[in-house]
Amino acid sequence: MAYNSGMNSPTYDLVVIGAGSGGVRAARIAASHGARVAICEESRVGGTCVIRGCVPKKLLVYASEFAGQFADSAGFGWQLTEAPAFSWPDLIAAKDAEIDRLNAVYLRLLADAGVELFEGRARLIDAHTVEVAGQRLSAERILIAVGGRPWRPEIPGSELAISSDEAFHLPIMPQRVVIQGGGYIALEFAGIFNGLGAEVTLVYRGDRLLRGFDEDVREAVEDGLRGRGVQMELGVSVAALQAASGAGVVAELSDGRALTADAVMMATGRVPYTWDLGLEAVGLEVGERGELAVDDDHRTAVPSIFAVGDVTDRVNLTPVALMEGHAFADKQFAGLDRPMNHANVPAAVFSQPPVGTVGLSEQAARIAGHRVKVFKSRFTPMKYTLAGRAEKALMKLVVDADSDRVLGVHVVGPDAPEMLQGFAVAVRAGLTKADFDRTVGIHPTAAEELVTLRQPV
Ligand code: NDP
Repeated sequence: MAYNSGMNSPTYDLVVIGAGSGGVRAARIAASHGARVAICEESRVGGTCVIRGCVPKKLLVYASEFAGQFADSAGFGWQLTEAPAFSWPDLIAAKDAEIDRLNAVYLRLLADAGVELFEGRARLIDAHTVEVAGQRLSAERILIAVGGRPWRPEIPGSELAISSDEAFHLPIMPQRVVIQGGGYIALEFAGIFNGLGAEVTLVYRGDRLLRGFDEDVREAVEDGLRGRGVQMELGVSVAALQAASGAGVVAELSDGRALTADAVMMATGRVPYTWDLGLEAVGLEVGERGELAVDDDHRTAVPSIFAVGDVTDRVNLTPVALMEGHAFADKQFAGLDRPMNHANVPAAVFSQPPVGTVGLSEQAARIAGHRVKVFKSRFTPMKYTLAGRAEKALMKLVVDADSDRVLGVHVVGPDAPEMLQGFAVAVRAGLTKADFDRTVGIHPTAAEELVTLRQPV
């Protein structure tokens, strides 16, 4: 059924607000099921992940890893006759060109799927109407997929700080960087700037980074970051910022000390981007963090309006938004029921050393009432032996002692994110420790530890 809310409104089966990962996937799949689809985007098609998140971040991580590799190469017989020189503007230009390419790919995907793109800020007018770029679009269903935005605490001088959004476009590389936060973005950017040669200080209010992760992971990451030269100020916050005399910013800490830096970055979380969206016009209220509540079909309290991705503040990861968008479109436009399961979602932190994790931490497993057996190993990866690096990798399995089921797999060390994808299948499938033990290792790899751990600790 096509819905028409006005004489001059083009009419769609689906209008999507937000052309990021979740929105684009939902639009394309709905169109492939025969729906007439429009998508609205106020910035660039591709959204946070492609334009100012996962993709440019990973490119910067790659760039920053070379420094360590150059240093390690000496242990393998290489002699760099000249110290390698690095150009931040060249890196940023190359990264921007790649983002432009991906943006064009996304535009083509939408066009090829027959999805109409409206560029501009979209607002809800009523439960079946969206206004964008001076036009009103009628829709049988509306999908809100506007994602999130960086959030920073309100402190004096907070406007002097950058967020990850700006970090991707700095004209010159800051040589002294203060990063506040102990989560994904703080750790990833600490590794990037540290690898590229800056002096990095992480300021985190807690006593250990990566709250919510397995305690052994938290410890291994902290050891690794310190070992690579990242300074840490734990148990304190940035209380105020002031412009430094000359250039730079002075960060006053909650304990009265001050740090001077060329850039202060706030990596203090992201919040759903639900303001100025016209939600009040349809009577939709948001939760404490600004999130839209949805049911298992991604439907909001207004039956014709749905939401997927970070705006719902469930599991804020790109592949989750993609699956949610896909499931929404399959259900609404093809009658296919593919319920989204938010349990055992694997995740990676592209810190240096990186983290790969799936399932329950040891602590969460105990709190959930499991009798737990833990298998773990901390060892020097072969890659580091000749290089003379002291850093140790961590491999850990959390197993339910009664059912033998593997509840969680946690890795810190080289290639941890790549390693975890396959192990996530195993955890999702409910495999047991005996299944792991029956699996032959791949030698010589670090990953083989995960199938050769025999003694619980
Ligand atoms: P996180 O939630 O991961 O971390 C936010 C950090 O800021 C926490 O350490 C938190 O401390 C701290 N913080 C929050 N409020 C304050 C405050 N008022 N004062 C001082 N510190 C504060 O958010 P990020 O910004 O790092 O990333 C946002 C989300 O984006 C992630 O949660 C993740 O979902 C996604 N993401 C995923 C990536 C990946 O998959 N690799 C990469 C980047 C982002 P505390 O722990 O004490 O609450």
